[in-house]
Amino acid sequence: MTDAAVSPPVRRLSDWDAAKLESLASEYGTPLYVLDLERVRENYRRVDAAFPDADILYAVKANALGAVLTALHDEGAGLECASAGEARRALEAGASGTHVHYTAVNPPARDLDWIVEAWSDQPGLTVTAGSEDTISRLADRGYDGRLCLRVNPGIGAGHHEKVQTGAAAKFGVPAERAIEILEDATGRGFDVVGIHAHVGSGVSRDQLEAHREFVARMGDLARDVSDAVGTLEFVDVGGGFGVPYREDEEPLDLESVADATRAALGEVDARLTIEPGRYFVADAGVLLTEVNTVKQARETTVTGVDAGMTTLLRPAMYDAYHPIRNLQADAGTVANGDGAADLDSSDVRSIDGSGRETIPQTVAGPICESGDLFCSDRDLPASERGDVLAIGNAGAYGYEMASHYNSRPRPASVVVDGDAVRLSRRRETVDDITRLEREDRTK
Ligand SMILES: *Cc1c(COP(=O)(O)O)cnc(C)c1O
Repeated sequence: MTDAAVSPPVRRLSDWDAAKLESLASEYGTPLYVLDLERVRENYRRVDAAFPDADILYAVKANALGAVLTALHDEGAGLECASAGEARRALEAGASGTHVHYTAVNPPARDLDWIVEAWSDQPGLTVTAGSEDTISRLADRGYDGRLCLRVNPGIGAGHHEKVQTGAAAKFGVPAERAIEILEDATGRGFDVVGIHAHVGSGVSRDQLEAHREFVARMGDLARDVSDAVGTLEFVDVGGGFGVPYREDEEPLDLESVADATRAALGEVDARLTIEPGRYFVADAGVLLTEVNTVKQARETTVTGVDAGMTTLLRPAMYDAYHPIRNLQADAGTVANGDGAADLDSSDVRSIDGSGRETIPQTVAGPICESGDLFCSDRDLPASERGDVLAIGNAGAYGYEMASHYNSRPRPASVVVDGDAVRLSRRRETVDDITRLEREDRTK
Protein backbone atom coordinates (compact mmCIF):
# COMPACT_ATOMS: atom_id res chain seq x y z
CA MET A 1 0.00 0.00 0.00
CA THR A 2 3.02 2.28 0.08
CA ASP A 3 2.76 3.84 -3.38
CA ALA A 4 -0.95 4.24 -3.41
CA ALA A 5 -0.91 5.82 0.03
CA VAL A 6 0.57 8.87 -1.66
CA SER A 7 -1.94 9.01 -4.49
CA PRO A 8 -3.22 12.53 -5.22
CA PRO A 9 -5.77 13.71 -2.64
CA VAL A 10 -8.25 14.53 -5.36
CA ARG A 11 -8.90 13.53 -8.92
CA ARG A 12 -10.36 16.48 -10.76
CA LEU A 13 -12.70 16.13 -13.70
CA SER A 14 -9.94 17.64 -15.85
CA ASP A 15 -7.66 14.72 -14.92
CA TRP A 16 -9.85 12.21 -16.75
CA ASP A 17 -8.80 11.20 -20.25
CA ALA A 18 -11.33 12.85 -22.59
CA ALA A 19 -10.71 10.46 -25.47
CA LYS A 20 -11.25 7.42 -23.23
CA LEU A 21 -14.48 8.81 -21.79
CA GLU A 22 -15.70 9.66 -25.28
CA SER A 23 -15.04 6.14 -26.47
CA LEU A 24 -16.95 4.72 -23.48
CA ALA A 25 -19.90 6.96 -24.31
CA SER A 26 -19.95 5.80 -27.91
CA GLU A 27 -19.56 2.14 -26.98
CA TYR A 28 -22.07 1.97 -24.13
CA GLY A 29 -24.37 4.90 -24.90
CA THR A 30 -25.47 7.71 -22.62
CA PRO A 31 -26.34 8.55 -19.95
CA LEU A 32 -23.57 6.41 -18.53
CA TYR A 33 -21.94 6.17 -15.13
CA VAL A 34 -18.22 5.43 -15.29
CA LEU A 35 -16.42 4.32 -12.16
CA ASP A 36 -12.66 3.85 -11.83
CA LEU A 37 -12.07 1.07 -9.31
CA GLU A 38 -8.37 1.79 -8.92
CA ARG A 39 -9.24 5.32 -7.81
CA VAL A 40 -11.63 3.85 -5.23
CA ARG A 41 -8.77 1.73 -3.90
CA GLU A 42 -6.43 4.73 -3.83
CA ASN A 43 -8.95 6.71 -1.82
CA TYR A 44 -9.27 3.85 0.65
CA ARG A 45 -5.52 3.49 1.03
CA ARG A 46 -5.05 7.18 1.79
CA VAL A 47 -7.67 7.01 4.53
CA ASP A 48 -6.13 3.82 5.86
CA ALA A 49 -2.69 5.48 5.93
CA ALA A 50 -4.05 8.52 7.82
CA PHE A 51 -6.01 6.36 10.29
CA PRO A 52 -3.72 3.35 10.78
CA ASP A 53 -5.20 2.63 14.20
CA ALA A 54 -8.86 2.82 13.21
CA ASP A 55 -11.32 0.30 11.85
CA ILE A 56 -12.69 1.57 8.58
CA LEU A 57 -16.15 0.81 7.30
CA TYR A 58 -17.45 1.88 3.92
CA ALA A 59 -20.93 3.45 4.03
CA VAL A 60 -22.48 1.37 1.30
CA LYS A 61 -25.26 3.82 0.50
CA ALA A 62 -22.81 6.11 -1.32
CA ASN A 63 -22.42 3.53 -4.10
CA ALA A 64 -23.63 -0.03 -3.63
CA LEU A 65 -22.38 -1.46 -6.90
CA GLY A 66 -21.10 -4.98 -6.22
CA ALA A 67 -17.73 -4.24 -7.81
CA VAL A 68 -17.22 -1.34 -5.39
CA LEU A 69 -18.16 -3.41 -2.35
CA THR A 70 -15.84 -6.22 -3.37
CA ALA A 71 -12.95 -3.85 -4.14
CA LEU A 72 -13.24 -2.04 -0.81
CA HIS A 73 -13.76 -5.22 1.16
CA ASP A 74 -10.66 -6.70 -0.49
CA GLU A 75 -8.75 -3.62 0.67
CA GLY A 76 -9.81 -4.36 4.23
CA ALA A 77 -12.90 -2.20 4.67
CA GLY A 78 -15.91 -3.36 6.62
CA LEU A 79 -19.30 -2.43 5.21
CA GLU A 80 -21.82 -0.16 6.91
CA CYS A 81 -25.31 -0.89 5.65
CA ALA A 82 -28.40 1.30 5.93
CA SER A 83 -30.93 -1.40 5.07
CA ALA A 84 -31.40 -5.15 4.85
CA GLY A 85 -30.97 -4.77 1.09
CA GLU A 86 -27.55 -3.22 1.53
CA ALA A 87 -26.61 -5.88 4.09
CA ARG A 88 -27.59 -8.55 1.61
CA ARG A 89 -25.49 -6.94 -1.10
CA ALA A 90 -22.55 -6.68 1.34
CA LEU A 91 -22.76 -10.39 2.17
CA GLU A 92 -23.17 -11.27 -1.51
CA ALA A 93 -20.07 -9.22 -2.29
CA GLY A 94 -18.10 -11.59 -0.09
CA ALA A 95 -18.08 -9.84 3.29
CA SER A 96 -18.60 -12.05 6.30
CA GLY A 97 -20.88 -11.00 9.12
CA THR A 98 -17.99 -9.71 11.21
CA HIS A 99 -17.39 -7.09 8.53
CA VAL A 100 -21.00 -5.98 8.28
CA HIS A 101 -22.61 -3.32 10.43
CA TYR A 102 -26.30 -2.78 9.90
CA THR A 103 -27.46 0.69 10.97
CA ALA A 104 -31.18 0.51 11.65
CA VAL A 105 -33.04 3.76 11.04
CA ASN A 106 -36.74 3.25 11.80
CA PRO A 107 -36.29 -0.20 10.29
CA PRO A 108 -39.22 -1.76 8.49
CA ALA A 109 -40.25 -5.12 10.02
CA ARG A 110 -39.08 -7.03 6.98
CA ASP A 111 -35.61 -5.54 7.32
CA LEU A 112 -35.37 -6.72 10.93
CA ASP A 113 -36.73 -10.16 9.98
CA TRP A 114 -34.08 -10.48 7.28
CA ILE A 115 -31.26 -9.24 9.48
CA VAL A 116 -32.08 -11.55 12.38
CA GLU A 117 -32.24 -14.46 9.93
CA ALA A 118 -28.88 -13.48 8.41
CA TRP A 119 -27.41 -13.14 11.91
CA SER A 120 -28.24 -16.77 12.71
CA ASP A 121 -25.76 -17.71 9.94
CA GLN A 122 -23.41 -14.81 10.56
CA PRO A 123 -23.25 -14.26 14.33
CA GLY A 124 -20.45 -11.72 13.93
CA LEU A 125 -22.85 -9.21 12.44
CA THR A 126 -23.31 -5.93 14.32
CA VAL A 127 -26.61 -4.08 14.58
CA THR A 128 -26.59 -0.38 15.37
CA ALA A 129 -29.89 0.73 16.91
CA GLY A 130 -31.03 4.31 17.15
CA SER A 131 -34.03 3.89 19.41
CA GLU A 132 -35.20 1.74 22.31
CA ASP A 133 -38.04 0.47 20.18
CA THR A 134 -35.57 -0.95 17.71
CA ILE A 135 -33.80 -2.79 20.53
CA SER A 136 -37.11 -4.23 21.74
CA ARG A 137 -38.07 -5.27 18.23
CA LEU A 138 -34.73 -7.06 17.89
CA ALA A 139 -35.31 -8.81 21.23
CA ASP A 140 -38.82 -9.83 20.11
CA ARG A 141 -37.19 -11.63 17.19
CA GLY A 142 -34.75 -13.48 19.41
CA TYR A 143 -31.75 -11.30 18.62
CA ASP A 144 -29.26 -10.96 21.44
CA GLY A 145 -26.12 -10.48 19.35
CA ARG A 146 -23.71 -7.61 18.90
CA LEU A 147 -25.39 -4.32 19.60
CA CYS A 148 -24.15 -0.80 19.04
CA LEU A 149 -26.11 2.24 20.14
CA ARG A 150 -26.44 5.23 17.86
CA VAL A 151 -26.55 8.42 19.85
CA ASN A 152 -27.60 11.89 18.91
CA PRO A 153 -24.89 14.16 20.24
CA GLY A 154 -26.92 17.30 19.62
CA ILE A 155 -24.41 18.84 17.29
CA GLY A 156 -24.45 18.89 13.53
CA ALA A 157 -22.02 19.37 10.70
CA GLY A 158 -22.66 19.14 7.02
CA HIS A 159 -22.83 20.88 3.70
CA HIS A 160 -26.61 21.11 3.59
CA GLU A 161 -29.32 20.97 6.22
CA LYS A 162 -30.76 17.77 4.74
CA VAL A 163 -27.59 15.89 5.69
CA GLN A 164 -27.01 17.46 9.11
CA THR A 165 -28.18 14.42 10.93
CA GLY A 166 -26.62 15.07 14.34
CA ALA A 167 -28.99 17.89 15.02
CA ALA A 168 -31.91 16.00 13.54
CA ALA A 169 -33.96 14.17 16.12
CA LYS A 170 -34.61 11.38 13.65
CA PHE A 171 -31.21 9.80 14.24
CA GLY A 172 -30.01 8.16 17.42
CA VAL A 173 -31.05 8.40 21.05
CA PRO A 174 -30.23 11.54 23.01
CA ALA A 175 -26.65 10.99 24.20
CA GLU A 176 -27.63 11.71 27.81
CA ARG A 177 -29.87 8.62 27.80
CA ALA A 178 -27.26 6.25 26.37
CA ILE A 179 -26.10 4.71 29.65
CA GLU A 180 -29.54 3.86 30.92
CA ILE A 181 -30.49 2.33 27.55
CA LEU A 182 -27.28 0.31 27.34
CA GLU A 183 -27.62 -0.93 30.93
CA ASP A 184 -31.06 -2.14 30.05
CA ALA A 185 -29.82 -3.81 26.85
CA THR A 186 -27.04 -5.55 28.75
CA GLY A 187 -29.61 -6.77 31.25
CA ARG A 188 -31.63 -8.21 28.37
CA GLY A 189 -28.63 -10.22 27.21
CA PHE A 190 -27.41 -8.15 24.29
CA ASP A 191 -23.69 -8.07 23.60
CA VAL A 192 -23.09 -4.32 23.80
CA VAL A 193 -20.05 -3.60 21.63
CA GLY A 194 -20.07 0.05 20.66
CA ILE A 195 -21.48 3.51 20.46
CA HIS A 196 -22.00 5.35 17.22
CA ALA A 197 -22.88 8.75 15.85
CA HIS A 198 -22.78 10.24 12.39
CA VAL A 199 -23.33 13.97 12.42
CA GLY A 200 -23.80 14.56 8.75
CA SER A 201 -21.91 14.73 5.54
CA GLY A 202 -19.37 17.37 4.80
CA VAL A 203 -16.51 17.29 7.31
CA SER A 204 -14.36 19.97 5.74
CA ARG A 205 -11.44 22.20 6.54
CA ASP A 206 -13.60 24.94 7.96
CA GLN A 207 -15.70 22.54 10.00
CA LEU A 208 -12.86 20.81 11.81
CA GLU A 209 -13.75 22.62 15.00
CA ALA A 210 -17.28 21.19 14.95
CA HIS A 211 -15.83 17.76 14.20
CA ARG A 212 -13.46 18.07 17.17
CA GLU A 213 -16.24 19.07 19.51
CA PHE A 214 -18.39 16.18 18.36
CA VAL A 215 -15.62 13.61 18.69
CA ALA A 216 -14.74 14.94 22.15
CA ARG A 217 -18.33 14.33 23.25
CA MET A 218 -18.11 10.80 21.88
CA GLY A 219 -14.89 10.23 23.82
CA ASP A 220 -16.51 11.44 27.04
CA LEU A 221 -19.52 9.27 26.44
CA ALA A 222 -17.36 6.21 25.70
CA ARG A 223 -15.52 6.64 29.01
CA ASP A 224 -18.81 7.03 30.90
CA VAL A 225 -20.29 3.98 29.21
CA SER A 226 -17.20 1.88 29.95
CA ASP A 227 -17.39 2.82 33.62
CA ALA A 228 -21.11 2.19 33.96
CA VAL A 229 -21.85 -0.62 31.53
CA GLY A 230 -18.57 -2.30 30.70
CA THR A 231 -15.79 -2.18 28.15
CA LEU A 232 -16.70 -1.22 24.62
CA GLU A 233 -15.08 -2.69 21.55
CA PHE A 234 -15.36 0.45 19.44
CA VAL A 235 -16.43 4.08 19.23
CA ASP A 236 -17.79 4.83 15.77
CA VAL A 237 -17.66 8.51 14.86
CA GLY A 238 -19.33 8.10 11.47
CA GLY A 239 -18.31 9.42 8.09
CA GLY A 240 -18.93 12.69 6.37
CA PHE A 241 -15.43 13.29 5.00
CA GLY A 242 -15.91 16.02 2.43
CA VAL A 243 -14.65 16.06 -1.13
CA PRO A 244 -14.03 19.17 -3.22
CA TYR A 245 -16.85 19.49 -5.73
CA ARG A 246 -15.70 22.86 -7.03
CA GLU A 247 -12.59 23.07 -9.15
CA ASP A 248 -10.97 25.63 -6.84
CA GLU A 249 -11.84 23.88 -3.57
CA GLU A 250 -8.96 22.35 -1.65
CA PRO A 251 -9.12 18.66 -0.83
CA LEU A 252 -9.56 17.58 2.77
CA ASP A 253 -6.31 17.21 4.67
CA LEU A 254 -6.80 13.69 5.99
CA GLU A 255 -3.86 13.92 8.35
CA SER A 256 -5.31 16.91 10.13
CA VAL A 257 -8.72 15.25 10.35
CA ALA A 258 -7.03 12.17 11.78
CA ASP A 259 -4.98 14.21 14.25
CA ALA A 260 -8.02 16.21 15.33
CA THR A 261 -10.04 13.02 15.73
CA ARG A 262 -7.42 11.26 17.84
CA ALA A 263 -6.76 14.30 20.02
CA ALA A 264 -10.44 14.99 20.59
CA LEU A 265 -11.30 11.39 21.38
CA GLY A 266 -8.66 11.18 24.10
CA GLU A 267 -7.80 7.97 25.91
CA VAL A 268 -10.49 5.39 25.42
CA ASP A 269 -10.27 1.70 25.95
CA ALA A 270 -11.97 0.99 22.62
CA ARG A 271 -11.05 1.11 18.97
CA LEU A 272 -11.85 4.12 16.86
CA THR A 273 -14.15 3.32 13.94
CA ILE A 274 -14.86 5.61 11.01
CA GLU A 275 -17.30 5.03 8.18
CA PRO A 276 -16.87 7.36 5.22
CA GLY A 277 -18.92 6.77 2.08
CA ARG A 278 -18.59 9.67 -0.29
CA TYR A 279 -14.85 10.06 0.19
CA PHE A 280 -14.04 6.66 -1.31
CA VAL A 281 -16.14 6.93 -4.43
CA ALA A 282 -17.04 10.53 -5.33
CA ASP A 283 -14.05 11.44 -7.48
CA ALA A 284 -13.81 7.91 -8.87
CA GLY A 285 -16.97 8.44 -10.90
CA VAL A 286 -18.20 10.56 -13.77
CA LEU A 287 -21.55 10.73 -15.48
CA LEU A 288 -21.50 11.01 -19.28
CA THR A 289 -24.46 12.62 -20.98
CA GLU A 290 -25.14 13.65 -24.56
CA VAL A 291 -26.28 17.07 -25.68
CA ASN A 292 -29.51 16.72 -27.62
CA THR A 293 -30.88 20.27 -27.81
CA VAL A 294 -29.23 23.67 -27.78
CA LYS A 295 -31.54 26.60 -27.43
CA GLN A 296 -31.08 30.31 -27.13
CA ALA A 297 -33.54 31.31 -24.41
CA ARG A 298 -34.29 34.86 -23.35
CA GLU A 299 -31.58 35.12 -20.76
CA THR A 300 -29.37 32.11 -21.17
CA THR A 301 -28.42 29.34 -23.52
CA VAL A 302 -30.12 26.12 -22.54
CA THR A 303 -28.09 23.01 -23.23
CA GLY A 304 -30.44 20.04 -23.13
CA VAL A 305 -28.90 16.68 -22.21
CA ASP A 306 -30.13 13.10 -21.90
CA ALA A 307 -29.34 12.76 -18.17
CA GLY A 308 -31.47 14.52 -15.60
CA MET A 309 -32.42 14.69 -11.95
CA THR A 310 -33.53 11.05 -12.27
CA THR A 311 -29.94 10.14 -13.15
CA LEU A 312 -28.06 12.43 -10.74
CA LEU A 313 -30.28 14.05 -8.15
CA ARG A 314 -27.75 16.02 -6.12
CA PRO A 315 -27.96 19.34 -8.01
CA ALA A 316 -31.77 19.37 -7.84
CA MET A 317 -32.00 18.10 -4.25
CA TYR A 318 -29.06 19.81 -2.54
CA ASP A 319 -28.23 22.61 -4.97
CA ALA A 320 -24.98 20.70 -5.29
CA TYR A 321 -22.27 21.92 -7.63
CA HIS A 322 -20.80 19.35 -10.01
CA PRO A 323 -18.03 20.24 -12.47
CA ILE A 324 -18.97 19.85 -16.12
CA ARG A 325 -16.68 19.37 -19.08
CA ASN A 326 -17.41 19.20 -22.80
CA LEU A 327 -15.36 16.27 -24.09
CA GLN A 328 -15.51 17.27 -27.77
CA ALA A 329 -14.47 20.81 -27.04
CA ASP A 330 -11.58 19.50 -24.95
CA ALA A 331 -10.51 17.18 -27.71
CA GLY A 332 -10.81 20.04 -30.21
CA THR A 333 -13.23 18.08 -32.34
CA VAL A 334 -16.68 18.91 -33.62
CA ALA A 335 -19.47 16.53 -32.79
CA ASN A 336 -21.67 15.08 -35.49
CA GLY A 337 -24.59 17.23 -34.37
CA ASP A 338 -25.54 19.96 -36.75
CA GLY A 339 -24.35 23.19 -35.31
CA ALA A 340 -24.18 25.27 -32.17
CA ALA A 341 -26.90 27.55 -30.97
CA ASP A 342 -27.19 31.01 -32.38
CA LEU A 343 -24.89 33.04 -30.26
CA ASP A 344 -25.65 36.46 -29.04
CA SER A 345 -22.30 38.16 -29.39
CA SER A 346 -22.70 39.92 -26.03
CA ASP A 347 -22.57 36.50 -24.37
CA VAL A 348 -19.26 35.57 -25.89
CA ARG A 349 -16.59 35.60 -23.21
CA SER A 350 -13.64 33.90 -24.82
CA ILE A 351 -12.61 31.32 -27.36
CA ASP A 352 -11.18 28.08 -26.04
CA GLY A 353 -8.43 25.93 -27.57
CA SER A 354 -10.88 24.12 -29.80
CA GLY A 355 -12.07 27.37 -31.32
CA ARG A 356 -15.34 27.28 -29.41
CA GLU A 357 -16.66 30.32 -27.65
CA THR A 358 -17.18 30.09 -23.92
CA ILE A 359 -20.71 31.12 -23.11
CA PRO A 360 -22.93 30.92 -20.05
CA GLN A 361 -25.09 27.84 -20.24
CA THR A 362 -27.89 26.27 -18.28
CA VAL A 363 -27.50 22.52 -18.59
CA ALA A 364 -30.94 20.94 -18.31
CA GLY A 365 -32.24 17.38 -18.25
CA PRO A 366 -35.30 15.84 -19.90
CA ILE A 367 -37.54 15.75 -16.80
CA CYS A 368 -40.67 17.89 -16.61
CA GLU A 369 -39.51 19.79 -13.51
CA SER A 370 -38.02 23.26 -13.44
CA GLY A 371 -35.45 22.04 -10.91
CA ASP A 372 -34.08 19.53 -13.40
CA LEU A 373 -30.84 21.46 -14.02
CA PHE A 374 -27.18 20.53 -13.62
CA CYS A 375 -26.07 24.16 -13.58
CA SER A 376 -27.39 27.63 -14.35
CA ASP A 377 -25.51 30.15 -16.43
CA ARG A 378 -22.20 28.42 -16.11
CA ASP A 379 -19.41 29.39 -18.52
CA LEU A 380 -18.73 26.39 -20.73
CA PRO A 381 -17.50 25.94 -24.30
CA ALA A 382 -20.44 26.42 -26.66
CA SER A 383 -22.26 23.10 -26.80
CA GLU A 384 -23.28 21.41 -30.01
CA ARG A 385 -25.81 18.68 -30.54
CA GLY A 386 -24.08 15.33 -30.18
CA ASP A 387 -21.40 16.59 -27.80
CA VAL A 388 -20.78 14.47 -24.72
CA LEU A 389 -20.60 16.30 -21.42
CA ALA A 390 -18.80 14.72 -18.48
CA ILE A 391 -20.23 15.57 -15.06
CA GLY A 392 -17.61 15.09 -12.38
CA ASN A 393 -17.67 13.76 -8.83
CA ALA A 394 -20.61 11.57 -9.70
CA GLY A 395 -19.35 8.40 -8.02
CA ALA A 396 -21.14 9.05 -4.72
CA TYR A 397 -24.91 9.33 -4.28
CA GLY A 398 -25.36 9.30 -8.04
CA TYR A 399 -26.81 6.02 -9.23
CA GLU A 400 -27.98 5.28 -5.68
CA MET A 401 -30.40 8.19 -5.75
CA ALA A 402 -31.52 7.61 -9.34
CA SER A 403 -35.23 7.08 -9.88
CA HIS A 404 -37.79 6.11 -12.49
CA TYR A 405 -39.63 9.43 -12.35
CA ASN A 406 -41.07 10.30 -15.77
CA SER A 407 -40.72 6.58 -16.58
CA ARG A 408 -37.04 7.09 -17.25
CA PRO A 409 -35.05 3.87 -17.13
CA ARG A 410 -31.91 4.15 -15.03
CA PRO A 411 -28.58 4.37 -16.86
CA ALA A 412 -25.86 1.76 -17.34
CA SER A 413 -22.73 1.62 -15.17
CA VAL A 414 -19.31 0.84 -16.54
CA VAL A 415 -16.36 -0.07 -14.37
CA VAL A 416 -12.80 0.76 -15.42
CA ASP A 417 -10.08 -1.20 -13.65
CA GLY A 418 -6.62 -0.49 -15.01
CA ASP A 419 -6.86 -1.37 -18.70
CA ALA A 420 -9.95 -3.49 -18.22
CA VAL A 421 -13.40 -2.07 -18.87
CA ARG A 422 -16.62 -3.89 -18.15
CA LEU A 423 -20.30 -3.21 -18.21
CA SER A 424 -21.07 -3.60 -14.55
CA ARG A 425 -24.81 -2.92 -14.70
CA ARG A 426 -26.82 -2.80 -17.87
CA ARG A 427 -29.04 0.08 -18.87
CA GLU A 428 -32.67 -0.40 -17.86
CA THR A 429 -35.47 -0.48 -20.38
CA VAL A 430 -39.05 0.69 -20.02
CA ASP A 431 -39.95 -3.00 -19.74
CA ASP A 432 -37.90 -3.15 -16.55
CA ILE A 433 -40.20 -0.49 -15.15
CA THR A 434 -43.56 -1.80 -16.32
CA ARG A 435 -42.89 -5.46 -15.66
CA LEU A 436 -43.87 -4.98 -12.03
CA GLU A 437 -47.41 -4.00 -12.99
CA ARG A 438 -50.05 -6.66 -12.58
CA GLU A 439 -52.93 -5.19 -14.59
CA ASP A 440 -53.45 -6.61 -18.03
CA ARG A 441 -51.77 -4.01 -20.17
CA THR A 442 -52.59 -5.63 -23.51
CA LYS A 443 -56.18 -4.34 -23.65
C1 LIG B 1 -24.45 8.30 5.02
C2 LIG B 1 -23.76 7.75 6.21
C3 LIG B 1 -22.37 7.68 6.28
C4 LIG B 1 -21.47 8.19 5.18
O1 LIG B 1 -21.60 9.53 4.93
P1 LIG B 1 -20.60 10.18 3.86
O2 LIG B 1 -20.94 11.61 3.86
O3 LIG B 1 -20.91 9.53 2.54
O4 LIG B 1 -19.22 9.90 4.30
C5 LIG B 1 -21.80 7.10 7.39
N1 LIG B 1 -22.56 6.63 8.41
C6 LIG B 1 -23.90 6.68 8.38
C7 LIG B 1 -24.67 6.14 9.53
C8 LIG B 1 -24.55 7.25 7.30
O5 LIG B 1 -25.88 7.31 7.29
